Amino acid sequence: KPLIGVLALQGSVEEHIDVLHKLGAATREIRVKEEVAGVDGLIFPGGESTAMATFHHWLIYAQAIMTEGDGLFPALREAVGNGVPAYGTCAGLILLADDCVGQKAGGQALVGGLDCTVCRNYFGAQVSSFELPLEGFPDAAPAVFIRAPAILKRGPTCEALASVTSAPSRDAAPHVEAFEPAKKKRKGSSSGEREVCVAARQGHILATSFHPELTSDSRWHAMFLDMVRERKKE
Ligand code: GLN
Repeated sequence: KPLIGVLALQGSVEEHIDVLHKLGAATREIRVKEEVAGVDGLIFPGGESTAMATFHHWLIYAQAIMTEGDGLFPALREAVGNGVPAYGTCAGLILLADDCVGQKAGGQALVGGLDCTVCRNYFGAQVSSFELPLEGFPDAAPAVFIRAPAILKRGPTCEALASVTSAPSRDAAPHVEAFEPAKKKRKGSSSGEREVCVAARQGHILATSFHPELTSDSRWHAMFLDMVRERKKE
């Protein structure tokens, strides 16, 4: 059984653990650096990335008082850097990105590893949250976007797996295309629609702007566990 560490500072921790158990994996909640060692894969849940970074600062503060020192984010960075497969949803995508822009992004601690720039709260505030069926997967539950980020720029090895096309007014329902690399926007398109990437994979790192852990769609976790099993075989 693969052992998956789930970052448990805040957010949809239980939901990820449930999906992983259903797919036959064992899990460990991760709050301190000692818990990172020995896991076969890492999940970065959705929630609020700035809150997770703040909890992390509280941990440093609390552990400094106990004169232990802290190294949770460095330990996560090292694990991901060493090739431990990682999957981040929403806020987890933000934590896994090398670069983050958008509301309150400045100075936020990131784990990094995914060669891309994400924009926090790209689709707007809580009220602009939405659900969309992923095109090409009629049987799958709709993708759930909650104050979701989008991937604005990708490095050459960061592959787009799904994209959303939305009008700049954001009144029109966005349109999702799954598993198709983002097409270049044609110059002079009158609709003013813009296509952004909402799911990406770069080698051992997978990330989605949306939350499959809140739906019955376990395909993304299954893809992640395949990545974990592949690495275990090596
Ligand atoms: N907007 C949140 C953030 O910036 C992410 C929201 C989510 O994970 N549902 O971290």
